[in-house]
Formats: sequence, structure tokens, C-alpha cells
Amino acid sequence: MQFESALSDPDRLFLAEVRAFIDAELDAALIEADDDQRAFFGDFARSNRWLEKLRPRRWHVAHWPKAYGGAGLNALQNYLLLYEQGLRGAPFVRPLGLNYVGPTVIKFGSEAQKAALLPRIINGDDHWCQGFSETGAGSDLANVATFAERRGDAYVINGAKIWTTDAQHANKIFCLVRTRRENTKDALSFVLVDMDSPGITVAPIRLLAGDHELNQVFFDDVEIAPEQLLGPEGDGWAVSKYLLEIERGAFVFGGRLRRRLARVITAAKEQQASSRFWDNVARLDIDLMAYECTELRLGHLDNGRGDALGTANMIKIEWSEIVQRIDELTLMLAGARTLYASPTPRDQVYGENGEIDMPGWLASYFNNRAATIYGGSNEIQRNLIYRNLRRTWR
Ligand SMILES: Cc1cc2nc3c(=O)[nH]c(=O)nc-3n(C[C@H](O)[C@H](O)[C@H](O)COP(=O)(O)OP(=O)(O)OC[C@H]3O[C@@H](n4cnc5c(N)ncnc54)[C@H](O)[C@@H]3O)c2cc1C
Repeated sequence: MQFESALSDPDRLFLAEVRAFIDAELDAALIEADDDQRAFFGDFARSNRWLEKLRPRRWHVAHWPKAYGGAGLNALQNYLLLYEQGLRGAPFVRPLGLNYVGPTVIKFGSEAQKAALLPRIINGDDHWCQGFSETGAGSDLANVATFAERRGDAYVINGAKIWTTDAQHANKIFCLVRTRRENTKDALSFVLVDMDSPGITVAPIRLLAGDHELNQVFFDDVEIAPEQLLGPEGDGWAVSKYLLEIERGAFVFGGRLRRRLARVITAAKEQQASSRFWDNVARLDIDLMAYECTELRLGHLDNGRGDALGTANMIKIEWSEIVQRIDELTLMLAGARTLYASPTPRDQVYGENGEIDMPGWLASYFNNRAATIYGGSNEIQRNLIYRNLRRTWR
């Protein structure tokens, strides 16, 4: 790890504790699962198996304040914990409850909401999914049309969300909805909905490799109580922006990317790759090093919230472009084997869950094409960086 020699004694001790924990708990089956991860979130059961190992130390909510049941680690310790897990090939822990909505409830929730929701997220009783995007509202998120109409003591929701990752596993969904017809941001509200509410249906969307990670979620006269709004009515845009900033900036991908690049390097040595190939590896290695510095310096010493300089946006652009470049090198090494495994209809072989039978790295290549789109496309991140910078120039 970069900068390891610069760590203070307590942080070095903490890193040793993390490494000892991983040595003891991360078994070969879990590592194999991560190395073969076909889709971004990976296999649900395996991800939860790793989560169960983190839970006794509260390392699944390492960054939450102790007052809310977290481990209360500082930003650097949280970084070290996540970096090492990625580097060693630990499964990706699903972030929707633990990293997205949990901290957002801590920031915007009423005391009653915190008491009701946070322990259930920590204990794994609730699995969340994110209902932001719609067919007419992706980059232009404020254009959501799903409408929550106030009727007496309730809000009644009608509309549809799309690209909802993990909706098939989730028992809760957080949504950005419209509570007034006007086309203004203060007409938007943030709601927390039970997936088993009458009127909700979920339809699967298959990925290119056949995997089922995404869904469409339909709301047909779904009733919720006013207490299910997070933040006041009309404040949904501010709540969503807060959550999105966490989504874009609060991951630690450096370790995971390093591991993937190391696998490419091993394969390239075995295949005696060309000097041109090694040139690409060298460029990637340098860019990854720069990314790691950025992730550590700006993202995690600042808890992923360096809004003024667009840190979260920068981190999102960089990791997603690096992962695609690593995939491209993998594809170059695979060469003819890639054609053989082509997911054209002629060659399709479906696994028991409907996934197309192809090597994990190839499914992952297809899935990662979306990395520069989800969480807000990279073009939009660049626009936001410009907007943030322009503010500082004034
Ligand atoms: C794998 C995957 C998982 C996802 N998971 C979720 C989820 O769990 N929950 C959820 O709510 N959403 C999810 N999404 C949706 C994701 O957030 C949107 O796809 C993304 O915000 C882009 O929106 P869009 O698809 O509508 O594309 P559009 O907004 O239609 O954009 C199309 C293209 O135009 C470009 N573009 C648009 N506007 C501008 C502009 N002003 N300047 C420059 N370029 C522009 C975009 O960059 C993009 O290249 C997921 C998407 C994917 C692919």
C-alpha cells in the first residue's frame, strides 16, 4: 500500500489488526467469488457471508458514529479497512443500506426514523434499493415523474422506476418523487417505502451477460404515511444530492483495482505479452497510483465529502475509467478465447439463474461498460466539476 511507511503508530497497529482479521476470516471460496464477480455487486449470498464476518466488530458500519451503532473509525482507518479488503479479494459488501441510506438517515432523519431504521440496517434486517432513475429522468434526475399525491393522512404514489439494482432482494426502497406538479426542485421529496406495500411490482432486466442485477419497479396507488418522508416535503433534492455524493465518492476502490491489475500482470507475464501491451500496463499503473493518492488524500481524509472541489465526482470518473481500461487489457490477453465465448444468440448457454455461460472476466467486462454510466454518467460528473470550480473562480 502506498504511504504505508508514513502511517502513525496507532494507524499502523490498526492496519495490522485488519490484516490479521482478513487472514483469519477470508476463505478461498470468498476470494474466488470476488475474482469471478460477473456484476458490480456480485453474488448476494456471498456478499452477505462476508458481511456477517465484519458484523461482530461493527466493521460493516465502520464509519458510522458510535452513537448510532457504528464503529466510529476515523476516515483514514475506514480507508485502510476498505482498501485492504479490496486488495485481498473480499466480496463487495452491498452499500445501499449501510453506506447510502444509513448515513442519509443519520443526517436528515427524525429521532423516530433513526430509532426505527438504523438498527435494522446494522442488523441486516432490511435490504435497500435505490429508486431514483426513470425512463425520462436519468442524467436529468430532477425531471422524475413518479408522483406522491397527498390524500388525507397518506401519500399515494404512482409511477415507475428503472435500473433499480437489487430490487429483487430488497424489502425497502428509497425514492425521489414529485409531491407537486410544478417543474421546480422544491416540488421533489424523498420517500422511504416498504417493497411489500400493496401496488408495488418488480420486473427483471437482464444484463448483456444474462445476469439479473437490475429491475424496473412499478408503483400503482402505493400508500405511504407522511412519516415515510425523509426530510420535509419539498426537500427531496437536497437529501438526494447528499446521498449521491456519498454514492460517487465514499467508496474505496484502490485496493480492488490494484488486485485486478495484478491479475492482468501475472497473465501478461505468462503469455509473454508484447512491449506495446506493457506500455499500456505502465500507463495504467501510473494512473492507478494517482487515483490511489486522490482517493486517500481528498476522498477519505475528507470522508468522501470534498464537495467544493468536486472530489466525489472526480473519484467516480477515475475509478470507472480505470476499471474499464483493466478490462480492456484482460480482453486483449484473452484474444481468440473471447470470440469463442461470444454472447451472440448462436452461442448462448444459460446457467440455472438465466446468466449466459461465459468466463467471469468477460461477464465483468460487459457489466463494467456501465460503470461510466451508473451513479450519474461521467459526462455529468465532468459538468459538475466544472460547475463547482466555476464557483471558486468567482
Ligand atoms: C448497471 C446500472 C445500474 C444502475 N442502478 C441504478 C439504481 O440502483 N437506481 C437508480 O435509480 N438508477 C440506477 N441506474 C441508472 C443510472 O443512474 C442512469 O443510467 C444514469 O444516471 C444515466 O441516465 P440515463 O440512463 O437515463 O441516460 P441519459 O440521461 O439519457 O444520458 C444518455 C447519454 O447522454 C449524456 N448526457 C445526458 N445529459 C448530458 C449533459 N447535460 N451533458 C453531457 N452529456 C449528457 C449522458 O452522459 C449519457 O452518455 C443504473 C444504471 C446502470 C447502467
